[in-house]
Amino acid sequence: MSLTKKILLGMFVGIIVGLIFNLALPKEWFDLAKTYVLDPLGMVFINLIKLLVVPIVLVSLILGTAGISDPKKLGRIGIKTIAFFLITTALALVIALSLGAIFKPGVGDFNLEGASFEKKEAPPVIETLLNIIPTNPFQAMVEGNMLQVITFAVLIGFAISRLGDRAQEIKRLVEQANDVLMYLVEAIMKLAPYGAFALIAVAIGGQGFDAIAAMGKYMFVVLLALFVHFSVVYGSAVWMLGKMNPLKFIKGFSPAMAVAFSTSSSNATLPVSMETAQKNLNVPKSISGFVQPLGATINMDGTAIMQGVATMFIAQVYGVDLTFSDLLTVVLTATLASIGTAGVPGVGLVMLSMVLTSVGLPVEAIALILGVDRLLDMTRTVVNITGDAACAVIIAKSEEKYEQKVASQQAAS
Ligand code: ASP
Repeated sequence: MSLTKKILLGMFVGIIVGLIFNLALPKEWFDLAKTYVLDPLGMVFINLIKLLVVPIVLVSLILGTAGISDPKKLGRIGIKTIAFFLITTALALVIALSLGAIFKPGVGDFNLEGASFEKKEAPPVIETLLNIIPTNPFQAMVEGNMLQVITFAVLIGFAISRLGDRAQEIKRLVEQANDVLMYLVEAIMKLAPYGAFALIAVAIGGQGFDAIAAMGKYMFVVLLALFVHFSVVYGSAVWMLGKMNPLKFIKGFSPAMAVAFSTSSSNATLPVSMETAQKNLNVPKSISGFVQPLGATINMDGTAIMQGVATMFIAQVYGVDLTFSDLLTVVLTATLASIGTAGVPGVGLVMLSMVLTSVGLPVEAIALILGVDRLLDMTRTVVNITGDAACAVIIAKSEEKYEQKVASQQAAS
């Protein structure tokens, strides 16, 4: 049986076991199984994968940048990547807000009494963006500050490419380190079916189903928006710009999607998403190494969708009419909030407070959606990482075309 099938089977069994615990067995049994079996199993897998994240971002981004020897090419890829990220995130929000307006998930009786949400301060996005230059790269790595690690890696990679032969050895060393890390990703992925089983069983087993019943319409709209964005926006982008059959794309990338679904973390999934994009989607290492770590940190269309629908939902619950300029504010702030969201579980909800505040909605209302967020987090994380892979496929194709064009011009002259 292929690994992907095994992971899917693990997920399926996880759902069944979670449902049995939730619906048919006493809560104490679930607590026992969670403490002694499921949590340890899930943690072993997730920690093994997480342990590779910082070294992989560092090494692959150094290599990715070093592999692009022409600074113009680096600039071109950088601009195309950021443009893709911003445009798709804005589209994601348009879809989310439109479906929120059509289905009106927040119209109805919602019990606001006793709803309390402990407000956590969302870090100002400008500060995050200005903070991308690390004063101490080792501290950045220790703290797992991805944007700073990315800056450091790009600078080192750039220097290696400029130095050419003079930095041959260090380049070889980084290449070998990359091979070692990728070997480990493949080895650890053998545990993915068991990890996915345990993580999903815990998520489903601990899920309050009353919350789902009350929030069914909200969940439906978020899931529908995620689905539309995934299939229409990514599907057509991969097909038309990346010249790849969308079904082949989905099939090839599915192992990474399964890991994103079970871990709810773009960061933790990064080693697997890169390996999968390079092996199954034929994205060159230099492009995957550049686009995917950056995307896992700043490109979160799934998160933006949840934030868009949630804002609409909360406005409707409170009977607030959002004007056109409010909606534009939501598009802008949710784009920034999703950029500022770290690729770990649940942070999208914390950053939602920034969007709500921008249009004067009460932050406490987040309490309403808290109970169902775990399941939505799993799904939006899949969309988040798929957007990065779609971008990598498209950039790879456009660079290929660009190089062909240059070569044929040179041949003609
Ligand atoms: N869990 C999401 C991710 O890692 C972030 C979020 O929306 O909370 O991509």
